[in-house]
Amino acid sequence: MEAVSFEYKAYKPRPFTKEERPYTTILFGGLTFKHERLITGALENMGYKAKPLPNIERIDLDIGKEYIDVGACCPTTFTAGNLARALMDIEKREGRDAVRDRYIFVTVGACGPCRFGQYHESYERVLEGLNLRDFRLFLLDLLQLEQSAEGGGLEVSMPLTLGLVYAMFMGDLITDMEYATRPYEVKKGQTDQVVKDSVEVLYERLKKRPIVGKKLGNFLWHILTDYFVDALKEVKKLWDEIEVDRLQPKARVKITGEFWLQTHEGDGNYNIKRWLEEQGAEVIPPPVAVWMDYLINMELFKLEDAKPFVKNYYLKKLAISFFAWLYRRTYDKLRKALNNIPNPLPSQRELKELARPYFYYRLAGGEGHMLIGKALYALKHKQAHMVCELSPYGCLPNTMSVGAMAKVLADYPELLYAPIEIKGDSEVHAYSRCQMVLTEAKRRAKEGFEQALERTGLSLEEIRDFEEKHPQLKRATYKVPNYGYVGTSANYVMHVAKLMGRLR
Ligand code: SF4
Repeated sequence: MEAVSFEYKAYKPRPFTKEERPYTTILFGGLTFKHERLITGALENMGYKAKPLPNIERIDLDIGKEYIDVGACCPTTFTAGNLARALMDIEKREGRDAVRDRYIFVTVGACGPCRFGQYHESYERVLEGLNLRDFRLFLLDLLQLEQSAEGGGLEVSMPLTLGLVYAMFMGDLITDMEYATRPYEVKKGQTDQVVKDSVEVLYERLKKRPIVGKKLGNFLWHILTDYFVDALKEVKKLWDEIEVDRLQPKARVKITGEFWLQTHEGDGNYNIKRWLEEQGAEVIPPPVAVWMDYLINMELFKLEDAKPFVKNYYLKKLAISFFAWLYRRTYDKLRKALNNIPNPLPSQRELKELARPYFYYRLAGGEGHMLIGKALYALKHKQAHMVCELSPYGCLPNTMSVGAMAKVLADYPELLYAPIEIKGDSEVHAYSRCQMVLTEAKRRAKEGFEQALERTGLSLEEIRDFEEKHPQLKRATYKVPNYGYVGTSANYVMHVAKLMGRLR
């Protein structure tokens, strides 16, 4: 009889070979449906079969709690439960052998003090719980442009990395368009339809992207050609068709918080962005691209800290600075194709300096100093009436930020800040907490709007008459400049007054 061994063995996935690639589906998840659809296009472009995990549902929290440790943060519990649900569904549909041999799961990790560096450990607990330790789970490094999973079946090459970066950028830009438009749309549901159509156009473009060159050649092709700019210009025509009514004062609410929680759209964060819109707010969503920008700039800041000890300091600084500049320039080039309606990326140096008196930037983990930096950035640049910070239950980095915010609020009492703890199963509490601050934000939005009307001496009837003669003003893609107000409606009144020659 064979002896049973109780010796601990670390999880090591079986190799994924090139021969298996045509019939093996890469599972992945963690972003919005827009980002995930575009990532699917980028992966298919490189010859992979890919499928996002189903969108997070409330049940994933319960499933996750069954498999991983009870002290895990809420994003880990939700995502681990989501993976478990997806694998159980595949097993039910296609059988156990299919789960093992025809699917792999790919996730990213990064070194850091928070659980993000250990997500894969939780996923491994899921595989143990499902008795699926021979299912293949691969962890990629977020900062490596080129890497491969054992067996060579999954190769992260320059063309794939750049495809994924553009997928992320375009997912962010469409999301910004969506949240800037939907609260003001005249025909209900039109924005959602245009979002779906836009994503499909961009998915096809990503899927059909020509693969030119391998390394430097491919890099140059991406930065020198207008392949994706043209795709976005095509998408812009869809948005041109949406009519908006900007004469509705709405509180602008900037969403910040832990990476997964702030990006997510669904039960994982009580669908709080949609809920805010239903309450009369305009949401400023957090782009995924800010996170990558943070990681790139942190390399630069760390280098600057170590200046006396670094060989070839200026050369290294130049290389990272160029890379950081190019990253932002590319994002701006794509934004321009959508008439600059999506928001620009905030300056990482400014975020760091704004947060510095309250949160040391080398305290990495979670969003680090960015939560405080973003809140103060929104206030200083008159970007939002209030900041809604989504803090996961069981998250140490976020707890530190929320604690440090006490001093920030003492120094900036005018900042409207709503930290919402998300446990996944107590939405009434979260909504009511948010509602308290939102009431004041709505009051400020209304006050700004009325002030703009008074300042310009315009009546709503006069503005509407002017709009009838200049229908381009009512397009979702019409860019309204900023006149020093936070609210969209107040800035719009000022803009119309300027066009009418009535700005006093
Ligand atoms: S930042 Fe917080 S919620 Fe996110 S993975 Fe780390 S510990 Fe979990």
